[in-house]
Amino acid sequence: MALDVEGIILKSFNYGEHHKIVKVLTEQKGVIGVFVQNANKVNTKKSALVQPLTCARFNLNPSHNANSDLYYAYSGEVVEYYLNLKLDYENVAYFYCMIELVLKGMEDEQFSAYVYRMLKNFLDAAENGYCSYLLSLIFQLKMLAVIGIAPVIDHCAVCKGTENILTLSVRQGGLVCANCYQQVEPILIDAPLIPIVRALYKIDVEDLPEIELEEELLKPIEQFLDAYYDAYAGFKLQTKKFINNL
Ligand SMILES: [Zn+2]
Repeated sequence: MALDVEGIILKSFNYGEHHKIVKVLTEQKGVIGVFVQNANKVNTKKSALVQPLTCARFNLNPSHNANSDLYYAYSGEVVEYYLNLKLDYENVAYFYCMIELVLKGMEDEQFSAYVYRMLKNFLDAAENGYCSYLLSLIFQLKMLAVIGIAPVIDHCAVCKGTENILTLSVRQGGLVCANCYQQVEPILIDAPLIPIVRALYKIDVEDLPEIELEEELLKPIEQFLDAYYDAYAGFKLQTKKFINNL
C-alpha cells in the first residue's frame, strides 16, 4: 500500500552511482529506510530529498520483496530546508549528534512520535536562532528516558531522601544526598546547578521557553552527560569526538 509520510532525513548512503538510500525519522513509523532513485543526478528534484537535516514529504511504495522493510520514493517534496541552521557547521555538528542518538538509541517504536516532534521542534527553533548547543544538551537529557536509562532526579537515588542533595552522580544513577555521596566520584554537577539540570530535564519540548544560560554553566552538564552515556547507554557516539574538537 502506498504511503504518504512526512519525515526528517537523518542520513544518506550511496547506492550504486546514481541512487541513494536514506534513513528518515517519521512520526508514525519510527526510522524507515527509503530508496531514492537517481538522487545523485544533478538538478533533479530528488537530490533535495536526500540531504540530512531536511524535512520532506515522501510518497512511498513498499518494497516488492516481502523480507525487505525498505520503501521506494516515487515522489516527494521538501517541507523545510533549514538553510540558516546549515550555514553554521557547529550547529550542524550538534544536530548530527542528536541524529546519532536517534539512530543508536531509539529502539522502541512507541517513542517515535515523541522523538519526531522533539527533533522537528528543535530544528525549527535552531533555524530561528535558538542555541543549538543548549538544544543538543536538552535532547541528550530527554533521550535518557527513551533509551531506558533515566537518572533518579526527584530525590536521592540511594536513600530516597530530599534533604541535603549534594550532586548528580553518574556512578549512583541520579541525585545523591550528602550522606550517600561516595567520595571516589568527582563532583561534576554541584548543588546550585541541580535545579537548572532538573528544569532542562523536564522542559516542555513542544513549547521551548527563552533561556539565557552562560556556556560555563552548560559545560559541566555536557561533561555529566558524556560520562553518563559512557556508563549506561551501551553505545559510543562518534559525533562526540568531532564536537569535543570544536
Ligand atoms: Zn541519600
